[in-house]
Amino acid sequence: MDQMGRPLHDLRISVTDRCNMRCDYCMPADVFDSNHQFMNRNELLTFEEIDSVVESLIPLGIKKIRLTGGEPLLRRSIENLIQMLSKHPIEIAMTTNGLLFGGRGEILRKAGLDRVTFSLDSLDPEVFEKITRTSGERLQSILDAIDEAIECGLGQVRINSVIRRGVNEQDIDRLIERFGHLPVSLRFIEFMDVGNHNRWRHHDVVPSSEIRSHLRKRFNLIPIESIHRGEVARRWSVEGGNGFEVGFISSVTQPFCGDCTRARISAEGKLFTCLFATNGTDLKAILRSQNNEIQIKDTISEIWSLRDDRYSELRSKTPKPGTISLPKIEMSYIGG
Ligand code: SAM
Ligand code: SF4
Ligand code: SF4
Repeated sequence: MDQMGRPLHDLRISVTDRCNMRCDYCMPADVFDSNHQFMNRNELLTFEEIDSVVESLIPLGIKKIRLTGGEPLLRRSIENLIQMLSKHPIEIAMTTNGLLFGGRGEILRKAGLDRVTFSLDSLDPEVFEKITRTSGERLQSILDAIDEAIECGLGQVRINSVIRRGVNEQDIDRLIERFGHLPVSLRFIEFMDVGNHNRWRHHDVVPSSEIRSHLRKRFNLIPIESIHRGEVARRWSVEGGNGFEVGFISSVTQPFCGDCTRARISAEGKLFTCLFATNGTDLKAILRSQNNEIQIKDTISEIWSLRDDRYSELRSKTPKPGTISLPKIEMSYIGG
């Protein structure tokens, strides 16, 4: 348990800081341009090193890992990593933009992937292109990838959408129309002040309550009880929705730090206990000097026991709701 009585249940592992999209709220193209220094290959944790970290965390009670990035499917032979990790008694999930998923669903599932989350903010090719700096023509391949994931039985497929004021509010209805008859979980995420470059303004956040009120005009939403501690989304099923559910991740308007059971490892092997943490602990140095699983376990255990992070709660208590001005880590680095 940490200082606030929170257990360590989930680990997010960023497997690369690179991405094949340039979402303006995450990796703005003018910042992450051809001059940007991404990590070298030898700086990244190897699959064996990632596996060692996971192995050492099993006795600490870890239940779930999520592979993320950057774009995790850019990491070559990621299915080999999934296969290595699948021997542990944990759920393995991945968050992806879906561009490289097509044709790989079955391979990933057979390797041991339990669940997949796709990030998709717009169904309008022009808006999609504007947000991601990726041709709107690629949108169809993401929609096909989502269908493929549903067909090959990758758990309940999730779709994450960050809705921003004046950018993609129209997509709330479009997304419901496109996915509302499928057994997926569509989750609306409030735009967060992660990193230093996404030009976050409180004004651009569309509160979950606003989206919910909008949806209630059309649907009968039935609340779903959370299954376990640390579940960040509040979920509702939709009457007549055939397994469809809608979730809200309201880290700005309804922070859930009190239930936050997550640690994060950056692609270069630094451990962070909060998405907004400024300093990480260099696990790679320990792995490469001694490769000692007991030492990794003890180090993480000690760091976790001292943890008192609750950035989002503190942000919500600032007199004028806004960002807290601390240097922050980029989402693509720490792993969203
Ligand atoms: N590239 C993969 C993807 O997009 O799914 C995985 C990494 S991405 C950083 C993980 C998630 O973080 C995505 O769902 C993305 O929408 C979300 N994200 C990135 N920046 C965000 C921000 N400022 N506020 C809220 N969510 C954000
Ligand atoms: Fe890439 Fe994902 Fe960030 Fe978009 S949200 S730039 S797809 S890492
Ligand atoms: Fe967890 Fe930090 Fe987010 Fe709070 S702000 S929910 S402690 S990651």
